[in-house]
Amino acid sequence: MSIATINPATGETIATFEPLTAEALEEKLQRALFAFGVNRARSFSERARRMNRAAEILDSRANEFARTITLEMGKPVKAAVAEVQKCALVCRHYADNAERYLADEHVPTEAKDSYVRFEPIGPVLAVMPWNFPFWQVFRFAAPALMAGNVGLLKHASNVPQSALAIEEIFREAGFDQGEFQTLLITSEQVAAVLDDERVKAATLTGSEPAGASVASNAAKRIKKSVLELGGSDPFIVMPSADLDAAVQTGVKARIVNNGQSCIAAKRFIVHQSIADDFQSRFVDAMKSLHLGDPMEESTDVGPLATPLIVNDIEKQVDASVAAGAKLLAGGKRVGDRGNFYAPTVLADIPRDAPAFGEETFGPVASLFRVKNIDEAIALANATTFGLGASVWTRDGGEQKQFVERIESGQVFVNAMVASDPRVPFGGVKHSGFGRELGVYGIREFVNIKTIWIA
Ligand code: NAP
Repeated sequence: MSIATINPATGETIATFEPLTAEALEEKLQRALFAFGVNRARSFSERARRMNRAAEILDSRANEFARTITLEMGKPVKAAVAEVQKCALVCRHYADNAERYLADEHVPTEAKDSYVRFEPIGPVLAVMPWNFPFWQVFRFAAPALMAGNVGLLKHASNVPQSALAIEEIFREAGFDQGEFQTLLITSEQVAAVLDDERVKAATLTGSEPAGASVASNAAKRIKKSVLELGGSDPFIVMPSADLDAAVQTGVKARIVNNGQSCIAAKRFIVHQSIADDFQSRFVDAMKSLHLGDPMEESTDVGPLATPLIVNDIEKQVDASVAAGAKLLAGGKRVGDRGNFYAPTVLADIPRDAPAFGEETFGPVASLFRVKNIDEAIALANATTFGLGASVWTRDGGEQKQFVERIESGQVFVNAMVASDPRVPFGGVKHSGFGRELGVYGIREFVNIKTIWIA
């Protein structure tokens, strides 16, 4: 894919960018290595001062950055503003907590002193997706820079202006030139960066094929990687649930980011005793969403990010209906330009239909009915993914069972799955490995050094 901003609402190409030459890339890697020497020697308070300044810039220019996000990938502008503000939050979180998260840990042994130190490791490559063009980057960069590492960003090819804006924010906040750099490179150039001795580790958020490629290339060079991949999160509703809240949150959890979120609720698993009620309210709510220009404040759902994504969603829905699924809402493209697809609801989905087993990365909800909690859990786990799960029940015994038996990186009870700087985020199974955020996130890219003084 060439590196370009193409407005998903109109199909218009706004700007194109040439990928870095080998010489320009070499210069940036050299700069990163130099900057690492500087940043690792800084105190936490010096790093925090800059990180807090980055938060101020994000807050004060949230509307401007939000418009860049919306222009490049089509999320409703009000959601883009919230995304930028959340980036400020993660900067402040690590500015305030990095020192505590990385403080020496004393371990009682027979030695005179024995403890664990957490040291930075160097330049880390972040390969990032377009769906949260600011948030995905800041949730990597804030802990990485606060730990004393430096960041190299290979962003998705359709969000170059977001990538450049982020680099500019760090520069304006007082970070040295090499501490955070955007590399305008294609995915084919990633292996060469991973090959370079100066790059110590990689993190990727994106699809399974991209994750497998980056992790195996990193492994060949004995470098660590963290992968945040796809998801097909269940949203389970049991008879004791607050149905109003479940319907309202369920719709929000499905259409967040125009349906293109790894932790969006994708499979709605509802107890049969309340399924008719849930279904009719859910379908009505999905039909009443306002699909339109993402730059308008009143828009609930904007265009999908690229024509390829609309094609993929259309194929998945059409094949699922052909396999016997019932179409309860949507199921079609909207308008004659841009990548608009109507909020869609499918039910009675056979096991061999794409909507049963594949991730649907667009505004398509799949409804399932179950007889009891065992069936709900079995269906929730009947996926190769294991990112998040949202369960709705007021029964304490059921809550405990869901928490213990669902195979995922996070379980949210009576709430939608969301990332939060204070708690770790990540998946199991094909959703990836490693964690971001919280104390665990900042400890992914450090040397956990044991000190033993006899
Ligand atoms: P993608 O194609 O995998 O792209 C993600 C990033 O990887 C982009 O920067 C892309 O660059 C790069 N890339 C693609 N193939 C590569 C390769 N072979 N080697 C090196 N880099 C490569 O992802 P997507 O399909 O756009 O994003 C959606 C996926 O991301 C979904 O599955 C979603 O669930 C997942 N996701 C996961 C999380 C999470 O936290 N778990 C969060 C958000 C999204 P180019 O753009 O240049 O191809």
